[in-house]
Amino acid sequence: MALPTLTELRFSHRQVIPKAGEREAKRLLEQFNHPQKILQYKQQRDFPAIEGTSRLSPHLRFGTIGIRRIWQMTEEIEVDIRTEEEQISLTTWRQELAWREFYQHVLFFFPELAERAYQTRMTGFPWQNNKDYFAAWCEGKTGYPIVDAAMRQLNQTGWMHNRCRMIVASFLTKDLLINWQWGERYFMQKLIDGDQTANNGGWQWSASSGMDPRPLRIFNPASQAKNYDPDAQYIRQWLPELADLSTAELITGTIAPGKCKDRDYVLPIVNHNEQQKKFKEYYKPQN
Ligand SMILES: Cc1cc2nc3c(=O)[nH]c(=O)nc-3n(C[C@H](O)[C@H](O)[C@H](O)COP(=O)(O)OP(=O)(O)OC[C@H]3O[C@@H](n4cnc5c(N)ncnc54)[C@H](O)[C@@H]3O)c2cc1C
Repeated sequence: MALPTLTELRFSHRQVIPKAGEREAKRLLEQFNHPQKILQYKQQRDFPAIEGTSRLSPHLRFGTIGIRRIWQMTEEIEVDIRTEEEQISLTTWRQELAWREFYQHVLFFFPELAERAYQTRMTGFPWQNNKDYFAAWCEGKTGYPIVDAAMRQLNQTGWMHNRCRMIVASFLTKDLLINWQWGERYFMQKLIDGDQTANNGGWQWSASSGMDPRPLRIFNPASQAKNYDPDAQYIRQWLPELADLSTAELITGTIAPGKCKDRDYVLPIVNHNEQQKKFKEYYKPQN
């Protein structure tokens, strides 16, 4: 039987596709274990400039490796664990694997969530759905460097670091006030690991419309960049036109209009503080 084409698998992008197949999946798993990146996962997993995660998501998505094989490896590793820190890292990684299982169960038992929010308070939420803002977000042209860097990574590679997925999803819903389902759809078109259950769960988590809406999460792009890309290494990698700017400018996104113009970069399309206030007003408490 012929292998399905990318179009048949519903990919619309043309970026470089990472190696596929069982052998590659095993190699990635092995690489994550030697030299034991898995035991530094807790410390490294949130920094997008570091290769601190397994990169197994496309393989789990397409079944070139099974969850049981992976879990078995975590049991083999556990036998030799020496410190509490190592144990915490292993547990943290297992918890991420568990999120995947959780979201699969969620859509199995609540299939209607593929089409709507879990939280009823989000029914009729006054999304503004500005198409120009949406296009700017998709293209990585919002004027918020950490958001734009992440969207460029997605557009160019078909993968985005988990921390950045949370940042851009928060920005789309809470700063641009655009329906999370628009972002969900765009991710499915672009992600090489695009998986309906994890994607829907991740978007509903970020939009505060899912099963776990507390605390009300509104990510401040500048604080996120400061905490998780403190040297602006990731921002410089994906926004090379800004590479010569200072780390402070890249992290805060406060770039003089003249400097933006010279580098063909946009000014911020919205004001984070004003937009998050609007979101909070619209997001009425549940009775
Ligand atoms: C808005 C949003 C959309 C997302 N869309 C997808 C998607 O379409 N497909 C997808 O596989 N993951 C998705 N995720 C979850 C997560 O970002 C990716 O699984 C992770 O970045 C993959 O990188 P990795 O394989 O190096 O992960 P690792 O950190 O090494 O984790 C190992 C595995 O655990 C699973 N996993 C990790 N984190 C999560 C999570 N939060 N939710 C569910 N499973 C998780 C993945 O299968 C992953 O390969 C999304 C997250 C958000 C916030």
